[in-house]
Amino acid sequence: MEKKRSVAFHTLGCKLNFSETSTLSRLMESEGFEKKEFDDLADVYVINTCSVTDNADKECRQLVRRIQRKSPESFVVITGCYAQLKPKEIASIPGVDLVLGAAEKFNIAQHINELAKGNGAKVCSCDIEEVSGFNASFSQNDRTRTFLKVQDGCDYTCSFCTIPMARGKSRSDSIANVVKHATQLAADGVKEIVLTGVNLGDFGKGPDGGRHEEDFFSLVQELDKVEGIERYRISSIEPNLLTNDIIAFVANSNKFMPHFHIPLQSGSNEILGLMRRRYRRELYAERVGLIKTLMPHCAIGVDVIVGFPGETDKHFQETFDFLHELDVSYLHVFTYSERDHTKALEIQPVIPIPVRNERNKTLRNLSYMKLQYFTQQQSGQTRKVLFEGFDKHGMMEGYTDNYIRVSTPYRGEWANQIIDWKLR
Ligand code: SF4
Repeated sequence: MEKKRSVAFHTLGCKLNFSETSTLSRLMESEGFEKKEFDDLADVYVINTCSVTDNADKECRQLVRRIQRKSPESFVVITGCYAQLKPKEIASIPGVDLVLGAAEKFNIAQHINELAKGNGAKVCSCDIEEVSGFNASFSQNDRTRTFLKVQDGCDYTCSFCTIPMARGKSRSDSIANVVKHATQLAADGVKEIVLTGVNLGDFGKGPDGGRHEEDFFSLVQELDKVEGIERYRISSIEPNLLTNDIIAFVANSNKFMPHFHIPLQSGSNEILGLMRRRYRRELYAERVGLIKTLMPHCAIGVDVIVGFPGETDKHFQETFDFLHELDVSYLHVFTYSERDHTKALEIQPVIPIPVRNERNKTLRNLSYMKLQYFTQQQSGQTRKVLFEGFDKHGMMEGYTDNYIRVSTPYRGEWANQIIDWKLR
């Protein structure tokens, strides 16, 4: 019998990348490949890259070098956002055999089957304007929780962001398809689905630019009816697209969890303007206010960027004060870094790196205090925890509906079960 070829994956970046890697790995397995861990020996190594990561290039080179040292005869395939943005640079990394851009990512098995070692890197990439199809993806590692991709690409033009260049126009699955996937996942025993996308609230544009006559609110309403799925989370949604209707629906739903992640990026309206964001801080505060009125126990996470060009001490103080006052639970703090071909490169003055780092530290401290405060507020309450199946050195972990992490000694019968849990 012929020996099975093996493949190992490594993912850089966001949840969307993780869900896509998961789908790519299932595609390869259905083509007869055996899945290996990245540290094991494999015939093919696939690196799914990210353009948001600061050191995409460096990280990629390091990973390829590691593979070459370990297994010089193996094939190395690079895909993902960075492969779309800089195909030539990646192809020039010694040891890379194949670079797959956004349009070719999901044809990976076919490309690998046609590959021969030692001819230099083959680049399969086209202009991002030509990328118009939609490939549904979901991650499935244990059966507790899955990240289901329902939307891809973005039509916004935020001045710091390369994602539209790496992922193309906004496009989505149809509601009927998403419901079909959710129903299948429920039959597989999945209890929680995290809806993911690049600009999730913009859900509704079909592949090839057509509209499905659908929107995110209708999707949420239809998913709420799917039997067997007990929890949904909305991974991240732009404040201008998080409508009062969605907030009110989540407040009354037993399935959509009281948890939002809403990018703010800056608490200064002047900086929001320079960033070309489509809202101002007043709208953001209004959204948070409504959420907390309807769901006082709701967790709210905030993305914020520090050190954006033009951000003076005064602007940063405005952001700090705004966040300090805002009833949110935690922050994801990003330090601005320059990206080729973005409008932000034209904005002056550039903020020195040490200042950016200092601001990052200040907001991370604020985040820590916010999270402590939020968790303390919930103490004494009984909330529902979905426990994961992993045995982590005798412990198991899970999240409450409002995203507080709970850890307890491992009990096999609790894996993938929702348990009433009194928070201390
Ligand atoms: S909304 Fe802005 S930051 Fe988010 S992906 Fe689109 S362009 Fe990038």
